[in-house]
Amino acid sequence: MNILVTGGTGYIASHTAVKLLAAGHQLVLVDNLANSNIAVLDRIALLSGQKPHFYQADIGNYAALSAIFTAHQIDAVIHFAGLKAVGESAQKPLHYYRENVAGSLQLLEVMQEFAVKSLIFSSSATVYGDPRELPLTEQSPIQPQSVYGRTKWMVEQIIADHCSADPSFSAVCLRYFNPVGAHPSGLMGEDPNGIPNNLLPFISQVAIGRREQLSVFGNDYPTADGTGVRDYIHVQDLAEGHRLALKLTNNPGCHRFNLGTGSGVSVLEMVDAFRAVSGHPVPLIICPRRTGDVAACYADAAKAQHELGWQAQLNLTDMVADTWRWQHLNPQGYQTPPAKLKEKL
Ligand code: NAD
Ligand code: UDP
Repeated sequence: MNILVTGGTGYIASHTAVKLLAAGHQLVLVDNLANSNIAVLDRIALLSGQKPHFYQADIGNYAALSAIFTAHQIDAVIHFAGLKAVGESAQKPLHYYRENVAGSLQLLEVMQEFAVKSLIFSSSATVYGDPRELPLTEQSPIQPQSVYGRTKWMVEQIIADHCSADPSFSAVCLRYFNPVGAHPSGLMGEDPNGIPNNLLPFISQVAIGRREQLSVFGNDYPTADGTGVRDYIHVQDLAEGHRLALKLTNNPGCHRFNLGTGSGVSVLEMVDAFRAVSGHPVPLIICPRRTGDVAACYADAAKAQHELGWQAQLNLTDMVADTWRWQHLNPQGYQTPPAKLKEKL
């Protein structure tokens, strides 16, 4: 298939791109580089032997998008582009609604104009908010607690309404749990700007010596060791989920799937796993809870297993080992000079 990948140089999209190129798909990537580095394209080319088409453009820009759809015969769109920082979304709600909701609307309108009828959308477990019952199924109550979570739920609803109005349109909303890990080669991984918000990038920067210690946000939750529990999922498993979701592109309607492992890991368990794999100390300090955090969140991913034939294959050790390899080989992320990388490889 000819697939347009929005947010194509981002963390999850870049891993998915390598997987899809290996499966024989042709890709067109579009990204405004708001949260990614152009160097990702060379890494994709190195891993796949192919350099996909790339456009530096904003999905909110009608002229740019329609030029891309005019230049390429697109069969399906995988829509990753968007902003994802929960805390920042509370400070800049209008910016988040514009980028995530208005941007997605613009994309859907251009798809309609060019009669492109298949979409896979990056949704999030944050749409569920504070779970009343675990594990979370796709039927669990939707009650997003953040602006970011609300943008994801709004886009899911817009997509569902569009599917109702156009019975030939097929959409798959993938609700990711906590994506972590990196490509096993160590050539691609997560490269957050500034201080990482998420647990695993923070721990790995402490282990490599870029940060002094981890702040553990609360050890008084009603969990086994008192720290927050999440369903961490390897980015390579997520990438495979997108490949399999493409099977539904000829199956009209709006389909929703949880992508998670189904098991919860606490903050302290993650720290222990990291210490064991890296052999480095991870100093930590217990801090107050972070506003908006829930005690525990993990998926029931049985629907994805039954309908897509998808199941997470990689375990916690794989997630941590691949993150560490990426961090170790690329201490400055994608800013690491290629010569230094070659030395290490
Ligand atoms: P990422 O920031 O690495 O990737 C998003 C990409 O979109 C970036 O390269 C960014 O430059 C680009 N982008 C942002 N706004 C754009 C715009 N208006 N036009 C064009 N490009 C734009 O994030 P990621 O972790 O790879 O996440 C991908 C998607 O998955 C996002 O929609 C995110 O909300 C969703 N998601 C992520 C997580 C997570 O924890 N990583 C969890 C659930 C859902
Ligand atoms: N966390 C932490 N210290 C950090 C970052 C995260 O203790 O520096 C905890 C956080 O409170 C939560 C878990 O790690 O219990 C996962 O947080 P993350 O931000 O990675 O994911 P999310 O909150 O989106 O589930």
